[in-house]
Amino acid sequence: YRAKEHGNSYRLYDPSMDTKAYERMVLETDLRKALEREEFVLWYQPQINLATMQIEGVEALVRWQHPELGLVPPFKFIPLAEETGLIVPLGEWVLRTACQTNKRWQELGMPKLRMGVNLSMRQFRREDLFDTVANVLQETGLDPADLELEITESMTMDLEQSLQTLQKLKSLGVQIGIDDFGTGYSSLSYLKKFPIDRLKIDRSFVSDIETDENDSAIVTTILLMAHNLRLKVTAEGVETEAQKEYLKVHGCDDAQGYLFSRPVPQDEIQQMFMKTPQN
Ligand code: C2E
Ligand code: MG
Ligand code: MG
Ligand code: MG
Repeated sequence: YRAKEHGNSYRLYDPSMDTKAYERMVLETDLRKALEREEFVLWYQPQINLATMQIEGVEALVRWQHPELGLVPPFKFIPLAEETGLIVPLGEWVLRTACQTNKRWQELGMPKLRMGVNLSMRQFRREDLFDTVANVLQETGLDPADLELEITESMTMDLEQSLQTLQKLKSLGVQIGIDDFGTGYSSLSYLKKFPIDRLKIDRSFVSDIETDENDSAIVTTILLMAHNLRLKVTAEGVETEAQKEYLKVHGCDDAQGYLFSRPVPQDEIQQMFMKTPQN
């Protein structure tokens, strides 16, 4: 065994351990300290209104700036954070930071943007979620209408419980979006009962939208249904001009994807609005 130095702690390095298992062990041990060490950072991805082609919102996406491993994407640590419960303080940090940032942008004179924040199952089920959101809005002074909480279909399984939670949140004036729409196994009955504002069509339906008849049928049907229910629709994972055109022609409200921008640090969003004309 060799010991690998990290901060004050030593972890045993077993040479027979493969890279993946080693990485997971490192992430697990370090995750607990990452919050107090301020190693998390939010990046923001623009959401474009397809009618005006203006940026109307951004989604806050968390990254972990790990001292040894570099920038760690959420799929590598969000599930771990869920398992260990760290998602609760991390989620609160994300919410507060995203609201602070949105408020600061407005104070800098940028146009009002909607700030999308992902909630995890564990956060959504907590009794104190309402208080947390209410406190953050009060502390930051952000207009509640400029915050959009994203939940997934799988969180709506307990219809009565989720309805209560959402009604309370909604009473604050925030917006509610359903993320990764179409990939969950829940029934559609919640759509007519829940106080939701937006569906975000999962990118798996968008990628082959022009070539796969089933995908295009699903997307156009979601658009029709959502608009009949007076819900807005954002398409996720828009990567090509052709996908954008298809979505626009079929009345999709907003689009998010690499075609417009990848998730970027906060100052890059600022620069998108603060560009002074050069000659
Ligand atoms: P999501 O909420 O569905 O976020 C969209 C993901 O799609 C982001 O991945 C984004 O970078 C990626 N994406 C955007 N446009 C494109 C595109 O055109 N093509 C492709 N291939 N991908 C695109 P990211 O940032 O890696 O986040 C992955 C997931 O991690 C998120 O999916 C969300 O479920 C979770 N996540 C991220 N931040 C947070 C957070 O603060 N809290 C919680 N609970 N979950 C988070
Ligand atoms: Mg999301
Ligand atoms: Mg998601
Ligand atoms: Mg999504």
